[in-house]
Amino acid sequence: MATAVCPGSFDPITYGHLDIIQRAARVFDHIIVAVGNNANKKSLFTVEQRMTLIQQVTKDIPNVEVDSYNGLLIDFMSKRNARTIVRGLRAVSDFEFEMQVASINKKIDDSIETFFMMTNNNYSYLSSSIVKEVAMYHASVSDLVPPEVEEALMEKFGQR
Ligand code: ADP
Repeated sequence: MATAVCPGSFDPITYGHLDIIQRAARVFDHIIVAVGNNANKKSLFTVEQRMTLIQQVTKDIPNVEVDSYNGLLIDFMSKRNARTIVRGLRAVSDFEFEMQVASINKKIDDSIETFFMMTNNNYSYLSSSIVKEVAMYHASVSDLVPPEVEEALMEKFGQR
């Protein structure tokens, strides 16, 4: 069975992430969405909150599960017996960093393969940071994130 891991911060999950997860779920038998618990990155939502939101918005995709990891993704992959990473690519600006990460992962463990999926054009400008910025100033994020996420953001930042 081909398992692929979609790793990320998902702080919070956006329609851009969801698009990649949905498309990856059609290609691979099993998808593990892995929420990284990166102590160096200040996050708006806790890992548990981010996982719950992902679970809610992927509940209709039967071959998707949600997990979290601390430390190196490679260690999580071996624990979960997975060899494939799926990452989304937006602009050229994503490319250099992604290439660096994919190369280092391959250096650490040669059996790991990273697959990239081009973003849906509608979401090429979309990131969790932009969503947080927009929500912070109480503008509508309904085109950017699923309703459950919008609600969670309104709870954080308060309604207008
Ligand atoms: P990280 O902090 O690891 O980059 P993110 O949550 O920002 O985590 O992103 C997780 C994955 O989702 C990455 O592969 C990223 O390229 C992808 N991604 C994020 N936003 C989009 C988008 N709008 N379209 C396509 N892929 C995206």
